[in-house]
Amino acid sequence: MSEYKSWFSCIDDECGETYPLDEIIYRCRKCDNLLEVRHDTVALKKKSAQEWRDIFDGRYRRQLWPHGSSVWGKKEWVCPFVEDDNIVSMYEGATNLFWAERFGKQIGMEDIWIKMCGNSHTGSFKDLGMTVLVSVVKQMMSQGKEVPAVACASTGDTSAALAAYCASAEIPAIVFLPKDKVSIAQLVQPISNGALVLSLDTDFDGCMEMVQKVCTENNIYLANSINSLRIEGQKTISIELCQQFDWEVPDWIIIPGGNLGNISALGKGFLIMKDLGLIDKLPRLVCAQAEHANPLYLSYLNNFEEFHPVKAKKTLANAIQIGNPVSVNKAINILKQFDGIVEQASEDELANAAAIVDKTGTFNCPHTGVALGAFLKLKEKGVFDPKDRVVIISTAHGLKFVEFKIGYHKKELEGVCSKYANTPLELPADYDTVRDAIFSKISSN
Ligand SMILES: *Cc1c(COP(=O)(O)O)cnc(C)c1O
Ligand SMILES: [Zn+2]
Repeated sequence: MSEYKSWFSCIDDECGETYPLDEIIYRCRKCDNLLEVRHDTVALKKKSAQEWRDIFDGRYRRQLWPHGSSVWGKKEWVCPFVEDDNIVSMYEGATNLFWAERFGKQIGMEDIWIKMCGNSHTGSFKDLGMTVLVSVVKQMMSQGKEVPAVACASTGDTSAALAAYCASAEIPAIVFLPKDKVSIAQLVQPISNGALVLSLDTDFDGCMEMVQKVCTENNIYLANSINSLRIEGQKTISIELCQQFDWEVPDWIIIPGGNLGNISALGKGFLIMKDLGLIDKLPRLVCAQAEHANPLYLSYLNNFEEFHPVKAKKTLANAIQIGNPVSVNKAINILKQFDGIVEQASEDELANAAAIVDKTGTFNCPHTGVALGAFLKLKEKGVFDPKDRVVIISTAHGLKFVEFKIGYHKKELEGVCSKYANTPLELPADYDTVRDAIFSKISSN
């Protein structure tokens, strides 16, 4: 047994219900509110801030199981009750914090960074949370609990991560997809990893309803982001960021938001570091939404006084095409504590922002494009000081979204005017023509 305790708690402090982490539960039984994982900070404070920094730094990017994973290297703060033998890990985190020097210079700022969370096992940050969720399931199974399978209703990055971690641990995974509404690229990861892929004759909401019913009535474990174990893994993004800056806190962090679990996780990571004394200030947070799925943005315009779900329209940033985000209450709570801003990006803005930054050597997914587009808009509005240190969270690898890239450069994306399209020159195989074409191009750039 670990000396550090953690448990599920209702997010409503007036309700105050708590539940053990190995119980199959997603909402408070008393008041139906969301749950979150809480830690015994009194016990954690027995170590000094410097001791924790040294522990985390000593484990970072090493091979010692399971601490080489940047999630499990912070195990005492994440999910201490899982035994090391039950951890299902594929070396999460420790992703590149890329200094976007050339892009920064182009816009007159020098301290711009892109945190490449998509450079990971299944190509998105979803691995950070899924390693915790699947490890808890394995722990429950080892204690004799019957869990026939783990299921989710996402089409993209969540189902890819779920399928990979379950495959690695030999736990059956079930993925619910709406028939004819997902691309081959979205299907290929769960199919390859041997998940049971169910293609239902309904839409996403229909799949979500079905997976919840199937899970509650059959003891199948639900992996959608209502499950707050995932937040604990994802909050290590903040801890790792500070670690990479030698425990300095950046001024701003910009992150794309859909179901709003990740912005909540980011804030939670900073709050525990501040509580335990590893940092002494908080950054300002910006949540970036696609204009086609912007309920949080609309609520922000109204000082978060009200929140109304919207009907999300089709967006290139399909992982954040969500009109009724599960974690909205957590996200608003975090944004209020971090003097947060919500900004939106149109299809045109997200695609061109991704493309202009691609030209400086990165390869951005459309969701990262939303964050970059929001950043450029806030820059125009004069929100930043030129000396500010700004971190943009890149949530997935661009290679997962090649249709988006190809469509952009072929100028075939709806609602997008591809300002930076780069199309191949078609030439005859004739030396003089080729040489002239090369020199007319490279001298004009
Ligand atoms: C899931 C996902 C998001 C959104 O995260 P939320 O927690 O739903 O707000 C953003 N980008 C990518 C690539 C994702 O897979
Ligand atoms: Zn409650």
